[in-house]
Amino acid sequence: MRAQACVNCGSDKRHGKWLTNPDKAVGGRVCGTCYKYYHDHGCPRPRELYERPPRPRPLTAAEAAEMARPSHPPRAVRGSGAPWR
Ligand SMILES: [Zn+2]
Repeated sequence: MRAQACVNCGSDKRHGKWLTNPDKAVGGRVCGTCYKYYHDHGCPRPRELYERPPRPRPLTAAEAAEMARPSHPPRAVRGSGAPWR
């Protein structure tokens, strides 16, 4: 038994049933998600929708401020003189 894969997104996970690719130029079978997308939009599901790269979460304002701050803040100058002199 051969594992099937969606000709559009390449997924071999079966979320539903395999359907004949509505894009006749490509043919083959597509997963339910790609099939639905094609019917809704009239074009194949774009790559960016099924390939989900680990996208870094944008920093919150508080996190950005935390990163901008030096890890070792300069010590507050004590007094006005130079005690070591
Ligand atoms: Zn698919």
